[in-house]
Amino acid sequence: MEKKETRALIETVMEQLAERVGFLGIEDEENRRRVCSSAKEILKTTDKVIKSYIRVSTEKNGIIRIPAYRVQHNNISGFYKGGIRFSEFVNEEEVENLAILMTLKNALHRLPFGGAKGGVHVDPRKYSERELNLISKKYVQRFARDIGPNHDIPAPDLGTNEKVIDWMVGEFKTINPGEPYLGSFTGKSVANGGAKGRREATGKGTFLSYSWLINEWMKQHADEKTINRTKQWQTLQAFQEEISQGKEIAVAVQGFGNVGSVAALEAYRYQAISHKVVAVSDRFTTLYNEQGLDVEKLVRYTAKGHDLPANQEQLLAAGIEADVMPAIEVLTVPTDVLILAAIEDVINQNNMHNVKARILVEGANAPISQEADLFFEEQGTVVIPDILANAGGVIVSYLEWKQSRVTELYSEEDIFADMSAQMIETLQAVYEAYFSSVEKTMRFTCFTLSLARLTDLLYRHGKLY
Ligand code: NAD
Repeated sequence: MEKKETRALIETVMEQLAERVGFLGIEDEENRRRVCSSAKEILKTTDKVIKSYIRVSTEKNGIIRIPAYRVQHNNISGFYKGGIRFSEFVNEEEVENLAILMTLKNALHRLPFGGAKGGVHVDPRKYSERELNLISKKYVQRFARDIGPNHDIPAPDLGTNEKVIDWMVGEFKTINPGEPYLGSFTGKSVANGGAKGRREATGKGTFLSYSWLINEWMKQHADEKTINRTKQWQTLQAFQEEISQGKEIAVAVQGFGNVGSVAALEAYRYQAISHKVVAVSDRFTTLYNEQGLDVEKLVRYTAKGHDLPANQEQLLAAGIEADVMPAIEVLTVPTDVLILAAIEDVINQNNMHNVKARILVEGANAPISQEADLFFEEQGTVVIPDILANAGGVIVSYLEWKQSRVTELYSEEDIFADMSAQMIETLQAVYEAYFSSVEKTMRFTCFTLSLARLTDLLYRHGKLY
């Protein structure tokens, strides 16, 4: 979903909230419409877009100039929060869209954070470790005034990891001597004050958003009394039927980085229902095996810094049996579930008709266009949207940020128990609202819950009149 689609959806939801009798405790229709219209203007507007250029001295090309961004969308529900991505596709529009989605995601999961995002226009694979270290430190120098533990707290995202974050924390500390610094970033290494399990959290949460629906939520609703969304319900019932007949559920995963590799491993190891991971991909390759891939071996292979094996020699070295296909094929292979964990806008009007999965899970941000979302809704395909599915990382980031304030290290068990409990509370609320209504998409349901909370906070803070 692009920025204009996100904004259009905010607009539609806000107009609907304005018509909700008694919303915000305002009975007078005209007054409620005026208040909601003010909230709409605020939430459609980004607080601050900061663009800068990072200049670094490279080994091959001398000094180069790299565009870098920090976008702070809204902080009504708490300090700005959002990852920093290093990618050659980064641009202002995309970073702003991702910042808006962070505001909505944090509000949906009732986290005390607002929304922000950062980006650096580099392909990290083309730079040496020393150059990446310089880029990371320069990023903090450029945006030092705009980030901090009580203002805006970045984290890793596409193309960044705990090593980059540790460098950034180091630079933040140098720039701000004597100031608290551990809470300035989340996604740090555990040795540097990070939370155990932060790296795995988004992938685990993404799989949980699907597995909890199919396993737990379906059981709770066996009597079907509150179900009005017939086609999606029939899809889930067909899954149940196939599972009860002993069928293994097929899963395909696009992206084999932080989010995708963990989500694939979760599917591979899931005990409650038998799954097979029939396809995984990275930016170069799709690996496909109808019988299922050995995900543990693939994780071991890629942990050594390799891309996915892409020829017979590499497959042999990894101990993997699979057909090697072009990267894009992962989206259209025969599968029951498709987990999207790479980049934006990978499914749109050009390829939506070829997608075979009956459940789509957005581990990545904005991978499905609005048009495709509506198409899938009509088809009876279940789409679990990004702001619901991929919040595991920011929930654990919140625990890490809290941990940095009390300087007590939570155990990995505590972290995943807290994350799952918090996610399940939101999953329950969204699935309940979505399946009992007939209108629009699950994304619409998520936006409605989130925007209702944000509007309520704006109203309570006296920002709307
Ligand atoms: P990553 O850099 O660790 O992995 C990205 C994966 O996607 C890699 O396998 C890469 O080869 C693949 N990829 C990159 N460009 C591609 C392309 N053009 N086509 C197909 N595949 C491509 O990144 P990540 O941290 O796993 O993040 C993946 C997605 O999840 C991003 O959209 C990110 O915003 C989102 N996300 C991440 C987190 C987090 O905690 N890391 C949290 C929420 C959302």
